[in-house]
Amino acid sequence: MSIEDYEVVIGLEIHAELSTKTKIFCNCSTEFGAEPNTHVCPVCMAMPGALPVLNEKVVEYAVKAGLATNCTISKDSKNDRKNYFYPDLPKSYQISQFDKPLCEHGYIEIETSKGRKKIGITRIHIEEDAGKLNHDEIGGGALVDLNRAGVPLIEIVSEPDFRSIEEVDAYLKKLKSILEYIEVSDCKMQEGSFRADVNVSVHKPGEPFGTRTEMKNMNSFRSITRAIEYEIDRQIDVLEDGGKVEQETLRWDDVSGKTFSMRDKEDAQDYRYFPDPDLVAIKLSEEYIENIKK
Ligand code: ADP
Ligand code: MG
Ligand code: ZN
Repeated sequence: MSIEDYEVVIGLEIHAELSTKTKIFCNCSTEFGAEPNTHVCPVCMAMPGALPVLNEKVVEYAVKAGLATNCTISKDSKNDRKNYFYPDLPKSYQISQFDKPLCEHGYIEIETSKGRKKIGITRIHIEEDAGKLNHDEIGGGALVDLNRAGVPLIEIVSEPDFRSIEEVDAYLKKLKSILEYIEVSDCKMQEGSFRADVNVSVHKPGEPFGTRTEMKNMNSFRSITRAIEYEIDRQIDVLEDGGKVEQETLRWDDVSGKTFSMRDKEDAQDYRYFPDPDLVAIKLSEEYIENIKK
């Protein structure tokens, strides 16, 4: 048995940082590369009692991205808390969107050597970025930089519609050029403003989709290609040896050219989502959406 005996299924979750001047829930600057913890305030540092206010530009940019990818724009949307603990997340929850994303049911048309194809967009939602942990060369341990905490993101979730690396490559280039053209993100991969979570599975023709693994935060075309190639081979090896692919989150290591297990897959339940009581619902009028479309 070889790779020819299997079909590959890939789905992508893209995070793009929006190029608004200020953060999603406060007035701090989103500028990249400043001295650590100089673009911070009580809101994005999560001081007790500090209250978020949604930046209207974030909604406008996300709607723009939704329209440019053939999505339906929701007139009734909201923000939810996604709860998890990590040192780069000072509130211990991320403000995101759960069951009512701003945009849904879109698609992007790509072109490969096999012709044209539509890749479905499941949803686009808005959320805040986390801070960044930097290794401390002198003292050991890690230092937290919160300049990125609260930088606005859109997450663009695709359907599991990709069947080859060529299709993934075409989609990433197309999506990047759309977001750049409508000027909602600079999509600088080296600065982390365009990054991909890559979901991969394999199955035999005629059988249902296989179990997927997810590789987080990939930020170069070359690593994405290498990681998918590696993961396809690894999964086929597991199956050929009579094993079972475990649903898990993986980390791609560029130096060794391998994936490593980070954690078991968490599902929505683990995040204890609930509507953020500090923020009001997002209600959009037809006119507002039409104006952005124009
Ligand atoms: P999560 O938040 O758990 O990652 P999402 O539903 O947000 O879940 O994203 C799932 C991603 O995985 C989507 O991009 C989807 O297209 C992709 N996906 C779902 N099932 C498969 C599969 N069997 N093989 C590959 N990718 C898949
Ligand atoms: Mg995911
Ligand atoms: Zn702030």
